[in-house]
Amino acid sequence: MEEKEHLNLEQTSTLLCSQCSTSMNESDVFCNSCGFPEKGTSREQAKFHAKAVMKKSNKNDADKKVKSARNTLYVVGGFTGVVGVSSCFLAGDVAVLVTNLILSGIYVLLGFWSTKKPLAALLSGLLLYIQWL
Ligand SMILES: [Zn+2]
Repeated sequence: MEEKEHLNLEQTSTLLCSQCSTSMNESDVFCNSCGFPEKGTSREQAKFHAKAVMKKSNKNDADKKVKSARNTLYVVGGFTGVVGVSSCFLAGDVAVLVTNLILSGIYVLLGFWSTKKPLAALLSGLLLYIQWL
């Protein structure tokens, strides 16, 4: 008799969320950790999965935007360098060459930095670009 009670207790305490394996209380409809409606209707569960997929695709979109912004930084950096070199050749303007090469280097560095801190790097690049136009 005692054995049986012990078993029952264990059963209630090992209820796990099917999505993230966090232990849940018998009375919980939603998982406390990931919000999955373990005891909800199949429609509620489908909704949860749809939301998860949407979150994922949003993240991919953001990654794509960061990537194209990073490419823009490289292009602007390259362009700035080319302008500096050509104005040095055409007009003998060494000051422009130096300024543009420095700027070009900053753009490329910001491009590399944006793989680690996309928002900060891209914002700095944008501000720099606006200021020097
Ligand atoms: Zn969960």
